[in-house]
Amino acid sequence: MSLDLQKLAAFAKEQGFIFPSSEIYEGIGGIYDYGPLGVELKRHIADLWWRAMVQLHENIVGLDAGILMHPRVWEASGHVEAFHDPLVDNKVSKKRYRVDTLIEEYAQRLEDRAQKEVEKRMQKAGLPLERLSDELHKHEDFQRARRLRAQLAKALDQKDWSALTQLLYEEKIPCPESGSTEWTPVRQFNLMFSTHLGAVADEAQTVYLRPETAQGIFVDFPLVLKTARLKVPFGIAQIGKAFRNEIVARQFIFRMREFEQMEMQFFVQPGTEDHWYHEWKAKRLRWHQHLGLAPERLRFKDHDHLAHYARAATDIEFLFPFGFREIEGIHSRTDYDLSRHAQYSGKKLEYYDETLGRSYIPYVIETSVGLDRLVLAHLSQGYTEEMAPTAEGGQELRTVLKLHPLIAPIQVAVFPLVRKAEFIQKARALYDELRFYFVVAYEEKDSIGRRYRRYDAKGTPFAITIDGQTLEDDTVTVRHRDNLQQVRLPMSQIRSYLMDNLSVSSWLRAL
Ligand code: ATP
Repeated sequence: MSLDLQKLAAFAKEQGFIFPSSEIYEGIGGIYDYGPLGVELKRHIADLWWRAMVQLHENIVGLDAGILMHPRVWEASGHVEAFHDPLVDNKVSKKRYRVDTLIEEYAQRLEDRAQKEVEKRMQKAGLPLERLSDELHKHEDFQRARRLRAQLAKALDQKDWSALTQLLYEEKIPCPESGSTEWTPVRQFNLMFSTHLGAVADEAQTVYLRPETAQGIFVDFPLVLKTARLKVPFGIAQIGKAFRNEIVARQFIFRMREFEQMEMQFFVQPGTEDHWYHEWKAKRLRWHQHLGLAPERLRFKDHDHLAHYARAATDIEFLFPFGFREIEGIHSRTDYDLSRHAQYSGKKLEYYDETLGRSYIPYVIETSVGLDRLVLAHLSQGYTEEMAPTAEGGQELRTVLKLHPLIAPIQVAVFPLVRKAEFIQKARALYDELRFYFVVAYEEKDSIGRRYRRYDAKGTPFAITIDGQTLEDDTVTVRHRDNLQQVRLPMSQIRSYLMDNLSVSSWLRAL
């Protein structure tokens, strides 16, 4: 997998998917804008999440809470006190890193190197690869990586920043950029953005831009419960912006300072949380695969160390061009959040269970996925360069974005083969009809070959051409983006043909 991120970012910009924010002022770190194609792609993904979550589950309802909330919310949630990342600067390269990521990636490199060496050695000695794991565990680098991870987890747990500084020095962890092992002491950094509510500066109240959407769900729990008349188990889903002043916002839209989350908190009876945790793990993995992410590029990664209130936590990771990374978190969070808000607000956040005849604070299973990370996953998996036949019988390199048809920004393109009135008239009539049902583009400029290529790069799954034969018998060709096959169909059947191929309901039914 050789696609590099810079190339993908350049492609995304050129095609109008994603732009650096405020580019005429040289941009601003970690903020990106979605262009005309990007906004469609993002909305389509969000819509399929919403439909699968809210529409398909009679016990899940939606919410759209404010970005600014009462400041006490973030005291209760623990974010004021504990939403910190440890950061460190390299003295030579002047680059800033999150220490946990720095050590984690170093440990990963050690493991990868150990594995390569062991595999090579075993092949040479003719040993069966089943013994790889045993052999690997004996390798010095592998053992060192394990030790590093354990020490990292311990220091993070205890928020012991000086232990982290010591670890960097003792283990001689190098800066990936300069190779230098000269580090500043580790410092902590709160990731929440703050602003002021009210016009008079000294009376103004400090408020925060929410760093996650989940708290809106917890705080509105009693109102939703009352108005939607729900029975445990039930869920509340929300899509919205979240803000984190990330220390290092790198890797394109993977780590942004303003991003979008799609979260669902599922409230269950205490004692049933393990069942629901497994249920949601399976459901969420299936959703990603159903939307076309390749099974071999997805995996679960259980958290090495759990927050004290958590019963279990896992990430769904996707294989990006820079390795496996988190796209979604699934967490079994006990009654921690509701209890904390009950304690800080003095309000009861309980559920009266009629069948049990008593009240309790429900336990929570959370599913939390980053919409921007999903966009990046689909773009990086879909981006393909391959040889394709030309109209003249030759071969040429084409860039094609192989997106699932339901999330393609433009689903159908309509082309008159040539720019003549009778072709144009028929093509426009078809376009005018189809745009009530799908996202459709019409284009008459350039040769048909160039138009096909142009829409391949936009990820358009179907291109319909009005040609000479259309004028005789009212049939048109439908060209498929991925296999380049063309079928000829009567114009009157196009709408239903596309409906079959772009049916959200069939997709939902098969989920
Ligand atoms: P990471 O370890 O990568 O910082 P996290 O564990 O802090 O992520 P969560 O708090 O679990 O992330 O947030 C849930 C989801 O929100 C993540 O799985 C990710 O998809 C998304 N997300 C979190 N931070 C960012 C960010 N800075 N930019 C884009 N998406 C993000």
